[in-house]
Amino acid sequence: MTAPASPRLAPRFATRMDQVRPSAIRDLLALGADPSIISFGGGYPDATLFPRGLLDGVFRDAIADPSGDALQYAPSDGLPRLRAQIAALMTADGTPCTADDILILQGSQQGLDFAAKMLVNPGETIVVEDPTFLGALIAFAPSQPRYAAIPIDADGMDMDALAATLATTPSARMIYTVPDFQNPTGVTLSLPRRHRLIDLANRHDLIVVEDTPYRHIRFDGDPLPTLKSLDTEGRVIHLGSFSKILVPALRLGWALASPPLLERLSLLKVAADTQTSTLNMAATSLFLDRHDLWAHVATLRAAYRRKKEVMLDAIRQHFPQEVTATDPQGGLFTWARFPEGFDATAFMRDHALPKARAAYVPGGTFFATTPRPNHARINFSSQSEDRIRQGIAALGATLKAQM
Ligand code: PMP
Repeated sequence: MTAPASPRLAPRFATRMDQVRPSAIRDLLALGADPSIISFGGGYPDATLFPRGLLDGVFRDAIADPSGDALQYAPSDGLPRLRAQIAALMTADGTPCTADDILILQGSQQGLDFAAKMLVNPGETIVVEDPTFLGALIAFAPSQPRYAAIPIDADGMDMDALAATLATTPSARMIYTVPDFQNPTGVTLSLPRRHRLIDLANRHDLIVVEDTPYRHIRFDGDPLPTLKSLDTEGRVIHLGSFSKILVPALRLGWALASPPLLERLSLLKVAADTQTSTLNMAATSLFLDRHDLWAHVATLRAAYRRKKEVMLDAIRQHFPQEVTATDPQGGLFTWARFPEGFDATAFMRDHALPKARAAYVPGGTFFATTPRPNHARINFSSQSEDRIRQGIAALGATLKAQM
């Protein structure tokens, strides 16, 4: 047994820890891990769709390779072969690049950490969507930023509001956006706004972090060009991820950026963890050689589209009329809005968990500046269609009893 923490222990944490705090929401979500609770909380893909057999094959073969390379240290920027494969994926998606433009990361989450570390001094401003991805706020916290939160509507970030904010915020350093099927709202940034965002970044000398884990989980229509493909001055750091299109456990993501940015990101990579897991990179590279990733993604898109419909039907049938939910054209979430004055955190603690035995993520947590507690992020990818119907019906009955 190690010694228990002494009452005399009062660690003097560095000031960068000032914004690094556990949240009440985290404790609530931990309760959602109870298997008797139907959780629409996490952004989990459907585990029944993981390509287990194919992954089993490529992991075995990577390990069995007589060179032992898959079990060895690897270059910190990532296995050259996988960097080239990712560059080919990006090029096919309309964002031309080469292996040299790619840095492999441990999940795109690592790119969020690095971007803030690289660009933002304490007290400088990160421009974010309002609401924005909670995990990004968690990654940015040690950089002690201020935030400017820009309203979003059905076409994504409001560019007039962004222009007005940038005109009066000289401390702005970077703009963080999830342009495709945003987490938490599911909305997509329109093409005219994509052009305008690049123009504003150029004009105000800002770096744009484009975070795209849901880009390929599209239910309808054609993809819009990435911000990176519209970038005229090399200001966009594009972050991609295998978490939603393959499996999150690989912890594999990447950054695509111009040389001055990529060089510094790569130094942060060495400092943080030397490199991403060689075995995971080698197995993924074999997977991309042997199997059709896009055929797998097509299966995911069909399944998630169907689940979204099941969830929205259930919401229409069971939730009180006053509650609205977005109808996203891709991604894993719908964003519910309750009447003003409704507190989705208190409702989850007092009613949803104990009575409906169902969980979501209370929306207040996704706002960088002023929380608006009458929202919830509801995930439709992880539960079976039956559990979606059952959980939404139970939540709806509890809502009707309370509202
Ligand atoms: N960005 C967004 C918008 C996300 O929703 C997530 C994960 N849910 C991430 C980044 C992190 O993903 P990864 O697993 O690639 O680290």
